[in-house]
Amino acid sequence: MGRRIDVPKDLREFARVFAKAGFSCYFVGGAVRDSLLGLPVSDWDAATDAKPEQVRSLFRSVIPTGIQHGTVTVRWQGRSIETTTFRVDGEYKDGRRPESVRFTSDLLEDLSRRDFTINGMAVDPDSGVIIAPDGGLRDLADCVIRAIGDPVARFEEDGLRPLRAIRFASRLGFSIDEATFAAIPATVERFRKVSAERVREELAKILASARAGEGLLRLDESGLLPEILPELSRCKGVGQGGPHRYDVFRHLVAACDAAPQRLTLRLAALLHDIGKPARRAEADDGSLTFYGHDVESARLAEAALRRLKFPNALVDEVVHLVRHHMFDYSEHWTDAAVRRFVSRVGLESVKPLAELRLADTSGMGNGPADVRSVMPLIARVEALRAKDQAFSLKDLAIGGNDLAGIGWPKGPSMGRALAEMLEAVLDDPDLNTRERLLEIAERIKVKHGVI
Ligand code: ATP
Ligand code: MG
Repeated sequence: MGRRIDVPKDLREFARVFAKAGFSCYFVGGAVRDSLLGLPVSDWDAATDAKPEQVRSLFRSVIPTGIQHGTVTVRWQGRSIETTTFRVDGEYKDGRRPESVRFTSDLLEDLSRRDFTINGMAVDPDSGVIIAPDGGLRDLADCVIRAIGDPVARFEEDGLRPLRAIRFASRLGFSIDEATFAAIPATVERFRKVSAERVREELAKILASARAGEGLLRLDESGLLPEILPELSRCKGVGQGGPHRYDVFRHLVAACDAAPQRLTLRLAALLHDIGKPARRAEADDGSLTFYGHDVESARLAEAALRRLKFPNALVDEVVHLVRHHMFDYSEHWTDAAVRRFVSRVGLESVKPLAELRLADTSGMGNGPADVRSVMPLIARVEALRAKDQAFSLKDLAIGGNDLAGIGWPKGPSMGRALAEMLEAVLDDPDLNTRERLLEIAERIKVKHGVI
């Protein structure tokens, strides 16, 4: 088709090192695809007929990243270039890479072992000519994700590929070829054997993409969703009434789609109501209630995220947002109410919770939420902070040592006294001086008969 791309100069020089030693070197996969689409290229991966040991002898700095699979990382002019010997894959078991590989000197064979036609392309660095033996250029022009070869056979080789198909479709806004899509339910047994870590990586990319909602609906349609997030599938058909136009499932998908493109928020939006099916009840007047669904959703979210092996810090953050998503800010909140809210959720959670609230409202199906409904909360918190007002125990003008100084015994009563003082200060920030807090402490002492 005569398509060409310009390979950056330093990468052409990299390839020339191979040529001088009598080897070939091409750039392959995502870099070719994304260049042709005019998207920024994150990593240029190279493929060569040189064996890993030969690549090691050509460069000064080579890291043996996956040498048994033919991959080394070459440090070159400030870049890290993953360089893989042309190969034909063996079976993928649970790991990130095939169990066994056979090296080949044939670029075309290497391209055809790749997952999708648009990923099975190479560029000759000098001429910029594209080599696309499996129809990648046509599919790229048609915006189609299509497995190379027989999709069922390819998905049986590596059960992660179906999820990758959905990931690329979401990221690029492509459709999935019919036979490729139909192979997903047919190979679901194989998908079940894929490690949680690999699934998590792809899911994270779908959720952080510009078309997360579309990706989630595709996951549902393909039958993969109950394999990955059964608790989300269980929200299907659970009606909610009130201002909601969607069932819980559609609401969660829409909220996720409306959330800012950060993984934490996308996950929080996706999971914030997953406890609703378990907490659904009909009131006497026939209306629906979901008491305690925030606690239940947080519990289920934690279990799901741990199962998917998300890192602890991310799990904690998402679960915290889910647990506290049920706040109903209005401009009528007093400053004391704002301070109590901050004290409950933590300063760093104010903005993400406000963003989650907007996503939640937008996900009801009545059009996008009005940012003025909750964003002023952030400015109000900032204003209170600028006045140095206390939100937490560490902001109090006195601490445990001061209480010990007036003869307070160490132990749980000390923590309770400080908490009581914080309550007083949240109501009236003027109380937050050493003098006045010590006065309060004396009063608490008498009231509770401490000492
Ligand atoms: P991204 O921009 O997300 O990194 P990418 O296409 O570079 O996209 P990678 O997962 O980095 O995706 O993989 C690099 C290339 O290796 C792919 O383009 C594809 O050719 C091949 N590949 C990766 N994973 C598989 C797989 N599971 N099965 C077959 N080929 C794969
Ligand atoms: Mg890549």
